[in-house]
Amino acid sequence: MIRGRLAPSPTGAQHLGNARTYLIAFWAARSVDGEIVLRIDDLDSPRVKSWASEQAIEDLRWLGLRWDGEVAYQTQCTEAYSEALQTLIRTDRVYPCTCSRKDIEQALSAPHESRFRGEGAVYPGTCSHWHHGAPIPEIPFCWRFRASNETLSFEDENLGEQSCNPAVELGDFPITQKTGQSAYQLAVCVDDMTAEVTQVVRGNDLIASTFRQMQIYRALDETAPTYAHVPLVRGMDDRRLAKRHGDTRLSVYRQSGVAPEAIVGWAAYSLGLLEKPEPCSATEMIEEFDWDRIGSQDTRIDPESIFFT
Ligand code: GLU
Repeated sequence: MIRGRLAPSPTGAQHLGNARTYLIAFWAARSVDGEIVLRIDDLDSPRVKSWASEQAIEDLRWLGLRWDGEVAYQTQCTEAYSEALQTLIRTDRVYPCTCSRKDIEQALSAPHESRFRGEGAVYPGTCSHWHHGAPIPEIPFCWRFRASNETLSFEDENLGEQSCNPAVELGDFPITQKTGQSAYQLAVCVDDMTAEVTQVVRGNDLIASTFRQMQIYRALDETAPTYAHVPLVRGMDDRRLAKRHGDTRLSVYRQSGVAPEAIVGWAAYSLGLLEKPEPCSATEMIEEFDWDRIGSQDTRIDPESIFFT
């Protein structure tokens, strides 16, 4: 039984690109009679906006998405994150890192670009000499995960086989903030384990994170879900959809009287699931869903011309 999830980040309004990813996650689960849960990734203070969680839920309902069970919130799961962290400390998979961004930049004389778009330089290992049992630093630190020096592979439901040597290509990565709060990589793994999620569908900008998260699953002796990375929506200049491209907030479409079926129809058409961008509901598209038609190409749009012409 497939159990998927929708995981909006309430760091701002949900836009067209987010909507398309949620629709795919929903169709992927429902088309095989699976379940899907909703979790709000609201851990990332101070970027999280107080209005955005509720708005995201309304947007998803308006789009016609339905989920199983209660909505989960990361901010209510902090105990589970600390437990997982304690295990990783005990097993020496993490170390306290006191480096600032500047320290890291200075230690890297010639940082090379990662093949994963948007990923920073590989951490130079400055604090990795620490081992479990040694004194804990007295200045602020984050817990950093020791990357595995081996090739990891997974079969992406949409993109096929993906491989990476995390130590070489991505490096050690933080799993907490310096405040002690769990960071995205750890929280997401623990959340998906807790909710017994078996299928993660998300944007193709998160492939590098998948390799990080696979290592966390292994270190915690858990089985990772299956992954499907889906194409993003970009502006005509090929940059990620953002304010400068025009307003694509779902809440704005909603308030301007655009029908959710128009958005769903556009999403299905832009993914190759419909021949024409004709209106249809999220539920109607369930049986049309087919991974083979999704492909790997990002979509370019001019938001101004989509729903208001
Ligand atoms: N909340 C994340 C986002 O909106 C998704 C997290 C994930 O898929 O792991 O980008």
